[in-house]
Amino acid sequence: MNKVKNKYILIPVTISIISLIILGIINFSGLNTASKQYLYFRKDVSSNLVDEVFVTNSPKINVKLKNGTIYQTDNPRLDNFKEQLLEANVQVSETPYFPRAEILPIASLVICIIASILMMIKSKAFGAKKAFAVDSLDVNPEASATFDFNSVAGNEEAKESVNDIVDFLKNPEKYSRYGARMPKGIILYGEPGTGKTLLAKAVAGEAKVPFYAMTGSDFVQIYVGVGASRIRQLFKKARTNGKAVIFIDEIDAIGKKRSGSTSGGSDERDQTLNALLTEMSGFNEKEGIVVIAATNRLDMLDSALLRPGRFDRHIEISLPDLCARKKIIELHLENKPLGKIDIEDLARKTVYFSGAKLENLINEAAIIACKDQSEFIEDSHIDKAYSIVLAGHEKINRSSINEKDRKITAFHEAGHALLSLKLLPDDKVSKVTIIPSTKGAGGYTLSIPQDTMYQNKDYIKKKIMVLLGGRLAEDLIFSKDFITTGAYSDLKESTTLVKNMVTQYGMGDSLGLLNLSELSNIDCTIGNDITLECKNILNSLYEEAKTLLTSNLNHLYMLSEELLDKETLLSDEIYKIVSSDNL
Ligand code: ADP
Ligand code: ZN
Repeated sequence: MNKVKNKYILIPVTISIISLIILGIINFSGLNTASKQYLYFRKDVSSNLVDEVFVTNSPKINVKLKNGTIYQTDNPRLDNFKEQLLEANVQVSETPYFPRAEILPIASLVICIIASILMMIKSKAFGAKKAFAVDSLDVNPEASATFDFNSVAGNEEAKESVNDIVDFLKNPEKYSRYGARMPKGIILYGEPGTGKTLLAKAVAGEAKVPFYAMTGSDFVQIYVGVGASRIRQLFKKARTNGKAVIFIDEIDAIGKKRSGSTSGGSDERDQTLNALLTEMSGFNEKEGIVVIAATNRLDMLDSALLRPGRFDRHIEISLPDLCARKKIIELHLENKPLGKIDIEDLARKTVYFSGAKLENLINEAAIIACKDQSEFIEDSHIDKAYSIVLAGHEKINRSSINEKDRKITAFHEAGHALLSLKLLPDDKVSKVTIIPSTKGAGGYTLSIPQDTMYQNKDYIKKKIMVLLGGRLAEDLIFSKDFITTGAYSDLKESTTLVKNMVTQYGMGDSLGLLNLSELSNIDCTIGNDITLECKNILNSLYEEAKTLLTSNLNHLYMLSEELLDKETLLSDEIYKIVSSDNL
């Protein structure tokens, strides 16, 4: 709005400039009055050549001849000057003389200056008001034409679920003839990076309609009403095109469940949410507008959003399974120079990777191959990228690490690796290293978890023991007083796991089958019991792991010696050491 106003102000400004230039030209080009001596003026008067004289109080007066010429002469300031002139048949004007040529530019200059001042005042007042109430929304349809269902690998069920939406967007009349009511809103939910945005774009691309994308947080503003107004503008814009897909990422920012007691302070969010619901019920099915929203957690959303007629279709986008991972990898490897790459193996290694993480891994591999100036992307590049994605880049300058620290790290990592091999034989240990990463770890052990739908209690307990294995090895080898801060993140992770066991999965005693987050509104005092129980579980798992590790001390020593020697061990080497029986 302001931009438009600014443009209008240019009109008076340019006219004023032009006027000034014209005035300048008139003044300097001699168009303006010349001067004549008073004597010659008297002569002109007596020869009856003068038409009019402009008598003022200024030292010079203007004289107009009958032939049109105008000149200045000295003001004689005679008392009867006017009388003399009148007697000589000369018209006398007592207003100052204005050359005609100057009247127009001067008039327009004055008008324009007044006009621009008025405009400035007005736009200022308008601008000040606007900051609070109206807010302009800068959203334009993104190019979605390059996306279609082929850009989304895996996610077959999800694609199937949106297929009819695409068809509906293409010919809404067909559906309305049957009286079918198409969902106005779809919610895609699932972990970050699983391709929700991608799928929404693909829907728009398949249907060849514009794609408007915004994020929930774009609507959460300090000023009450701005979010709501943005919603209205978004829909208005989308409507100008007729058919459209509107995508709202992180819908939870505006549509989060209202948590019981807190009523104040969420005015803005409520208004925004209401505006969204109103807009959605405002358009009818024939219009061909579909709103797709994405969230990581469906259970966090306000039920008002999920009611029929609103976002009534919920589609889960899950992490890709083995087959889907393979397809995603293949898709992203397309059009890249490929050497020998074991896609099957990579897909197997990348359990719990999202599509975005896979894409990132392949991109890293391509960068490494490029840095190596290798002609093709090879398995070795993929392997390096795999470690980078999981653990960060290796620290190049390792000269500052002293021998003592290296030894501690070696035993720490050997502890993790050994317990993993013994307790979770189905989780393959793919790499152990004592090379620190730029992410801050002193070293790390990579293992490939099982690709299962559920995790049972036994598995979680063993997983915790593996996490504790690092600290345990330090404890066993260097004694209690020399344990280090290196176990910081292991302890954090194991605490989360044990807390979830007790409070979320019904695997503990103090809560039994109760779920803690559902109890949050009840003033519960069992916090201490829970903490105590978690602590006891961790302690007993630690003791259990200690027994196991103590009976395998020889392997622990062998692994850490090998690590000190080679810095990095891959799965074959690790398995060879542990299966050897020399003491
Ligand atoms: P989300 O919206 O679920 O967080 P995105 O749609 O933004 O995830 O995905 C990010 C990127 O990850 C995509 O641009 C794409 O490169 C990649 N990706 C994710 N899932 C897939 C998939 N199923 N097929 C192909 N690429 C995918
Ligand atoms: Zn550790």
